[in-house]
Amino acid sequence: MSPAEERPIRHRSGIWTTILHWFDNETGLPLPPSDEDRVDWLRTLPFILMHLGCLGIFFFGFSWAAVTLAIGLYLIRMFAITAFYHRYFSHRAFKTSRAFQFLFALIGSCSIQRSPIWWAAHHRHHHAHSDAPTDTHSPVQKGFLWSHMVWFLCRQNFTTRKDLIRDWMKFPELVFLDRYDTLVPALFGVAIYGLGEALQVLSPGWNTNGAQFVSWGFFLSTVALYHATFTVNSLAHVWGTRRYATRDDSRNNPLLALITLGEGWHNNHHHYPGAVRQGFFWWELDPTYYVLRLMATLGLVWDLRPLPERWRDRDRIDLPTPPQISEEGRFHPEDES
Ligand SMILES: [Zn+2]
Ligand SMILES: [Zn+2]
Repeated sequence: MSPAEERPIRHRSGIWTTILHWFDNETGLPLPPSDEDRVDWLRTLPFILMHLGCLGIFFFGFSWAAVTLAIGLYLIRMFAITAFYHRYFSHRAFKTSRAFQFLFALIGSCSIQRSPIWWAAHHRHHHAHSDAPTDTHSPVQKGFLWSHMVWFLCRQNFTTRKDLIRDWMKFPELVFLDRYDTLVPALFGVAIYGLGEALQVLSPGWNTNGAQFVSWGFFLSTVALYHATFTVNSLAHVWGTRRYATRDDSRNNPLLALITLGEGWHNNHHHYPGAVRQGFFWWELDPTYYVLRLMATLGLVWDLRPLPERWRDRDRIDLPTPPQISEEGRFHPEDES
């Protein structure tokens, strides 16, 4: 063993390291080893404040402009999460240009669900271990609350699993978003405030202002987006029907599909994760897929990975493992599509 290997790793911890982590994820790394499922309360403070910020709607009032903003931002950011964080960055279910990839990495970052790299790495781990004891967020193993949100409030899941996401680590712009993942949300909040203040001056008839815009468009819209997204990890593994005998407890649930723009067909998705569509039949609402089809028509995305018909029509438990994404971003075993 070389002297370098013998040297013990110096772990840093404490209040300042935690606060610095809010601005720079590499500060003070490596973190102290912690296998405990313990919530890091200081680290969780911004998440709690996001919820408290929703109370602003009672202080700063209502306007149709603010409500429209909240709904619009919910929809575009949900699309960024489902189409890009999930189907593109996690599963590589279609291709796009580097510019478009970065644009939707930015929009996704405005969802304040960490970077696409952090998100996709944890999600790949989920598919490799779904509902096994090693799954990061299984409601079957650790209960609803854990799978819904406690898992990412714990120190052990704070860091990015870089070994599972080597294919995206070669893009410096994505690595930057991962390291400084509070920067985009902060600029996003400032932009919403500025827009509301500008409208107060330019369109007084709209009856809005910066604080009202932030309450509805930043806090309330984001918190709604949070909990809708989190249901895919929690409810979509316990509530709904199972068309396919997958090795996990994933479910299909039309209500969850509605609020997540198509992600509620989670049993379908675990059956064949490489497909760009999650509603496997025409009556299974999948707005994300429809928008991606439209974007493909416009030439913005391409090579949408299809669902092989023979996989759609299989429902026995003795199936071979469907193609899964590897940490290098390739499918194993070879994609049959
Ligand atoms: Zn799942
Ligand atoms: Zn997935």
